[in-house]
Order: sequence, then structure tokens, then C-alpha cells
Amino acid sequence: MRFKDLSQLKRPKPLIITLGSLPQHILMAKYARDKAFKISERVGVIFEKSFEWYGFTLANNDHPELITDIGLPQNDLNLQDYTTLGSQRIAEFQESLPEDVLINGWIHSHGDLNYRHFSNTDEKNHLTVLDFVSARTRKPLAKKEIAIQNLVLLEKDRFVEKDLEKGSISLITDGPITEAKIMETVYGSFCYSIVIGDKGWHEQEIHCREGGILSGHTTVRSQAAKIEFVDTGRALSQSDISALSNEVEKKIKPHTDPPPEMIERM
Ligand SMILES: [Zn+2]
Repeated sequence: MRFKDLSQLKRPKPLIITLGSLPQHILMAKYARDKAFKISERVGVIFEKSFEWYGFTLANNDHPELITDIGLPQNDLNLQDYTTLGSQRIAEFQESLPEDVLINGWIHSHGDLNYRHFSNTDEKNHLTVLDFVSARTRKPLAKKEIAIQNLVLLEKDRFVEKDLEKGSISLITDGPITEAKIMETVYGSFCYSIVIGDKGWHEQEIHCREGGILSGHTTVRSQAAKIEFVDTGRALSQSDISALSNEVEKKIKPHTDPPPEMIERM
């Protein structure tokens, strides 16, 4: 027998059944958007200069894909052009949140710089945030067949030790069977990243991690994403704004004389 080309030698495709999907674009409440830009404005007013700041995008447990609010943690260090983020800070902030609120990403400002994309530092921060939030945003995406070469089927109490030497995987069942498919759950999790500027621009990405529970195979990918602003009926009130001013004053730490090693930047 002759093959026309090697593609005919391919093994049959594994069976995949879709169970769910990760977000393809970002949903954000207008309230959260307005709050983010208000933080930048307050930073400018209070410190009389524009500084980078970072916060977390928050969602409710029953709809993890919709950003309903912005959480402002104690910022470690706010330079004019550098913001760094540690997992310790994320953990502390998550603990301060009500039970039904989760972090689904992070947001930061590039102040008045016209640097409208994510920096190398930002890329590292994405992964730190994804690592931290993935347990909360995780959901089953698919059941996928694991192709096992040399699967050996054995019957409980009817095999001997020698039988276990055969095959790559042994499946022991309580009755005689002749065929078996092993399907693993592929879980996916995501986090959002948004960067904004004082002039009103914003850029955003979705970061996704997918992994098979049995094969341990994991992939991570990032994609630029559209953002859809949703009216949730909540608007930034005058008292929200004065509370936010107090928060900004307490939590943002402008640092105008950074040690040299911190200026590795964008
Ligand atoms: Zn940045």
C-alpha cells in the first residue's frame, strides 16, 4: 500500500465536546469606567501631577465576566512612568473584598504619557494577575478525548501483576469491557487588563489559560479585545467622588525620586 502524502498517516482527531467558552470581549459597567477616569483626575488634582496608578477590576461571583467596579489597593510606588504589581498585594486586596466579589483583572493608568500600549513590565503583571485570579474565573470549556496508545483493559480481581507490565495505561473495571474512551475536562480561566490615559484613551487585553485536568497540558494566550460599556443603572455620585478623593490621597504614593534600579521601565 502506498500513501499519497504523510497527512494520510495522521491519527484520527480526538473527540471534543464543547461545554463553555471564555470571554471574547470585555464587558464593563459605565460606572466602573467613569470611576477609573475619575481616579486619574483626582490623582492629578491632589498631587498636582500625573502619576501612574493601578487598581483591580471587580465582578460579582454570579457574573465574573462583567466588570462592575474598580478596587483601589494601597499602591506600592507610583512613579510617573512605572507601576509594579506583586501577588502579595493582590492577595491582601482579595481578602478585603466581600465574599461575593472577585477580582477579574487589573487596570492601570499611563497618566499623561502618550504610551498607548502595554509595556514589558505590564506583560509580567498580566501573568501575575492571571495566576492569582484563575482559580476564581475557572470554568469547564470542553471534554476532550485523551488519545492513549496501548490502553490495557483489565477486570477487577481477575488480573495478575504480570498484566500490569503491559500497556501505557491500565484501566481496571468491575466488569468485562472491550473498549473505552477517556475524556478529560479542559478548564479555562481568564483575566482582563486595561490601560488608560488621562486624555480618555483606553487599550485592553484578555489573558486566557486553558489546561487539561489529566494530561496537565496548559496553554496561555493573550489577545487584544474590544470593550463594551454596559449601563448597570449605577452612576458615580457626588459622595462617591469625595470618598474616592480620600482613597486616592491615602493609597497613591507618588515617588518622585526613585532608586535607579526601579527605572528599568516600559
Ligand atoms: Zn503600563
